[in-house]
Amino acid sequence: MNDNSDKDVRFYELLEQLVTAMTDYDIVDISHIESLLIEISSMFRLSKAVTHVYRNPKEEKMGNGETLCCYDTGREGEPILTFRVVTSVMSIVTMTAYMSPDTEPLTESERQKVELCMRTTISFISNRRLRDIVYELAFFDDSGYPNLRSLNNYLAEMIETGGYRGKAAIRYNLRHFTIVNQEIGRPAGDIAIRNHFNAVKGMIGKSGKLFRLGGDNFIAICKQDKLEKLLSYLNEANVIYSTDGNSCVHISTSAGYFVIPDDFTVRAPGDIMERIITAFQYAQSGGNGHIVRHTDELVRKKSKSMRVQQNFPNALRNEEFHVFYQPKVNINTGELCGAEALCRWFRNGSIVPPNDFIPVLEETNDICKLDLYMLEHVCQDIRRWLDSGFNVVRVSVNLSRKHMMNANLLQAIIEIIDRYSIPHEYIEIELTETTTDVEFRDLKRVVGGLQQAGIRTSVDDFGMGYSSLNLIREIPWDVLKIDRSFLPVEGDGTESTRSIMFKHVVAMAKNMGLECIAEGVETQDQLDILRENRCDLAQGFLFDPPLPVDKFEQRMKIMTYPTYYSDEQ
Ligand code: C2E
Ligand code: CA
Ligand code: CA
Repeated sequence: MNDNSDKDVRFYELLEQLVTAMTDYDIVDISHIESLLIEISSMFRLSKAVTHVYRNPKEEKMGNGETLCCYDTGREGEPILTFRVVTSVMSIVTMTAYMSPDTEPLTESERQKVELCMRTTISFISNRRLRDIVYELAFFDDSGYPNLRSLNNYLAEMIETGGYRGKAAIRYNLRHFTIVNQEIGRPAGDIAIRNHFNAVKGMIGKSGKLFRLGGDNFIAICKQDKLEKLLSYLNEANVIYSTDGNSCVHISTSAGYFVIPDDFTVRAPGDIMERIITAFQYAQSGGNGHIVRHTDELVRKKSKSMRVQQNFPNALRNEEFHVFYQPKVNINTGELCGAEALCRWFRNGSIVPPNDFIPVLEETNDICKLDLYMLEHVCQDIRRWLDSGFNVVRVSVNLSRKHMMNANLLQAIIEIIDRYSIPHEYIEIELTETTTDVEFRDLKRVVGGLQQAGIRTSVDDFGMGYSSLNLIREIPWDVLKIDRSFLPVEGDGTESTRSIMFKHVVAMAKNMGLECIAEGVETQDQLDILRENRCDLAQGFLFDPPLPVDKFEQRMKIMTYPTYYSDEQ
């Protein structure tokens, strides 16, 4: 009797300590808890107590969870009690106690005490587990990468401790990763991302951190002395990651970064985030290469873009945009045989060149309004020329790729042309190359539709982007416009890469039955080369710059450029 009551006293002492140890979350001392459990378990002749933790019911079904032994004498024993707890996020914890072999079974009162301890322990474990899961859900994404919330925490801590000094921040995105996924499949794509992540994490080391913002978007914080190496890695166009051993992919990135100046005070995460996002947006638009540093100049450019966007609606309404016409010349005869319509913005007495506003308008799709405005004004001019008996030439109008998504584009174009009763052969549409499959399909549909309507189309800037032979073969173009970067320049011998490529591009286009025009022709030498290679048409400063409409009308009256042909005629 005495014995039993001593044992009871000790048990309740231990239980009280156990409950206290398990309730005081922030100062949990696991070894203390363990020693309490060991004493309690041996008091009741248990051989071991085993806990299983499953993140979800599926894991439990498959038997995949984690196993923890709260107590283990190394002897097998008979399972005598099992408890199971399901948490509010559907994670599951089970606990089983085993009785030492060859010992007396538990009395009813002993059994109740063991149950009490097990319930206390299992609820402690499931609560802790719940806390871990909530932490994981909050700070890691589905694939286990630290997420945006984790980044915000990291930044907040850096700001508090001044740990941002000597650091740089980079916001980047894997280029064309959708295509990579299509090519090698999602699972291999995921492995490629994992390898990429680990490689970059390794470069950053312990003094910084890498976060994933979903998909193929990342933010890195690193020490400035690691920056150069990291950026050159991110810029590398041909980094190869072997994925499953069979396939490999090439990953390069677009990145915007900010080197935190020594005298800069970061007050909020936004001070860093806004800067890397601005730089990243520039990197993505591709104007300045794929890696862009945040600078004051960039901020000035951004505010200029915002002004363009704000002023655009009024400018369009006030007809501040004018059509300039740049002649296209037949290389063999020197005759004027067409023109390209190029936009000029007359603003406060000066002319804004297209490169200052077209890229900005492309960011918001406002470019679509401008293009249709240009087409309409070209149609008005052609109507007037036809009515006044001009020798009218075909005019090409530039159409941004931003139109491709518009299912009503064809109708809109034809409606404008027909409203001015312009015979369709007077209009040509210039479109640039495309990069993705989706765009490719849209482009094919648009060009096919224009062809059916008797409106000619040309591939603009051929050679600049991702020139692919598929693009030329599978889409019914009429004209190939060779970009000026392909044109041989002074100093290029006839055997230079540029000369050879130029020659082959012209030959290929002609074989496919396309008309060939070279843009940006500036010298007599270039004209000679074009002629040698049997290119049909030329456009460039050698003949004329883009001309205001009255000057162009004078051109149409003369119709030839005899100067460059006098030797031969
Ligand atoms: P683009 O379509 O490639 O137009 C040819 C550009 O080359 C024009 O620049 C033209 O002035 C310039 N150029 C012509 N000959 C020469 C030459 O001999 N040497 C040099 N260095 N340049 C020459 P511009 O007018 O400044 O237009 C720039 C770009 O803006 C155009 O390139 C086009 O992509 C875009 N753009 C212009 N107007 C429109 C428009 O109405 N709609 C759209 N979507 N884009 C337009
Ligand atoms: Ca063009
Ligand atoms: Ca062009």
